[in-house]
Amino acid sequence: MGRNYTLSAILRGLLVYLLPFVLVGWYLDVVWPALALALLLKLCWHYYYINRLTGWLWDSRTLLPPMGKGVWTDIFDGIYRTLRRNQVRQRSLSTLIKRFRQASEAMPDAAVVLKEDGTVTWANKLAQLYFGLQWPGDNGIRITNLIRHPRFVKFFKNGDFSQAVTMHSPAHASMEVEVRVMPYADNQFLLIARDVTQLTKLERMRKDFVANVSHELKTPLTVMQGYLEMLDEPDLLPAKQLHKAIHDMTAQTARMQNMVNQLLELSRIESSGPDSFTEEVDMAALIRSCVHDVSLLNSEKQHRIEVSLDDHLNVYGSADKLRAVVMNLLTNAIKYSPAGGTINLSWQRRHLAAAFSISDTGPGIGSEHLSRLTERFYRIDADRNSATGGTGLGLSIVKHALEHHRSRLQIDSKVGQGSRFSFVIPAELIVQAKGSAT
Ligand code: ADP
Repeated sequence: MGRNYTLSAILRGLLVYLLPFVLVGWYLDVVWPALALALLLKLCWHYYYINRLTGWLWDSRTLLPPMGKGVWTDIFDGIYRTLRRNQVRQRSLSTLIKRFRQASEAMPDAAVVLKEDGTVTWANKLAQLYFGLQWPGDNGIRITNLIRHPRFVKFFKNGDFSQAVTMHSPAHASMEVEVRVMPYADNQFLLIARDVTQLTKLERMRKDFVANVSHELKTPLTVMQGYLEMLDEPDLLPAKQLHKAIHDMTAQTARMQNMVNQLLELSRIESSGPDSFTEEVDMAALIRSCVHDVSLLNSEKQHRIEVSLDDHLNVYGSADKLRAVVMNLLTNAIKYSPAGGTINLSWQRRHLAAAFSISDTGPGIGSEHLSRLTERFYRIDADRNSATGGTGLGLSIVKHALEHHRSRLQIDSKVGQGSRFSFVIPAELIVQAKGSAT
């Protein structure tokens, strides 16, 4: 069908339409009334299609155009094509928006889209979790009315978004979030927040660690420096004082060496990958050898060490790490208990698992300390430890070594009633020893 609407084509069409009316009018001698009638009919015809067009555009629910004739076929067809094109474009746009939202939901960060005036246009699920936002309930509300943390409000009002701001999550007090705001498009803002709780904790631990190590090294180094200054003129020193200086310096060196060894051990345990659990460890033999190795340390205190061991209860694990566990717990029991006490060691089957425990008749530990004992460098009281030369690293080593064996250290203690340290090795790490009676 040719869509030819040039002036000549339109005039030609009009002439073809009017010609029969003119001829009949001429024949009946009513040319002008016949011409007027022809034009009136043409007008009514157009009016009819205009009516159909408005009915279709405003009232019809279907996209399909009404049937037309002549020029109206082209008009209906043209409008229909434009509508179809828009519909397809709209569909692809909404698919794009859907995909964008799905991608933002898959992001490990919270995302909020803000308008120029700071009102919320959209928020993903993590934003609802981190900031307690309601979606779509909070649509159109100012972000500073939803996140009221003073640091955030100040940051947002300042409008300098070159840096991120870190704050506690308004929805979870224990969570720390780092918030960034990025301007984009026509004065829109994208707010991105990520959970940095673990990162902040690690950073704090790193700082504490450096502070603790420096503090621990400072005391022995100061003592040694003092003595070395005195030794600058050894002739002036009486022999007794010289002897004391050498004795003290040796003790301080031993203390530093002990700390460095323990730090190295802790780092070795922490950085070792997951155990393969193919090594069989004879725990009863390992405990006996530890008891033997501490006999020199115990000779001063003369504790009675009683053992109750199941000889057929081997485990899959790392002998080195399990030895570090037993040695640290045993030396602590010896160090911290007043002379002449009793230390009980037990290694026994418990259902399908195996339980280790060591109890002593020492001074006991206040409940306020129990949850912090396995922290690095944590010591109960400095005086008690300066006498024992402790570093506060032993129980931290125990904790990490046990984690490698899917186990946890349990501490039961009360001041004045001694202490009991225990752990359970899970059933999957127990070796079914040949000849054992289960
Ligand atoms: P340290 O090298 O100081 O012994 P640990 O990490 O092994 O470090 O122990 C941490 C603290 O726990 C010690 O300083 C001590 O105060 C307390 N502690 C550990 N074991 C015992 C125990 N058997 N009896 C009493 N207190 C203990």
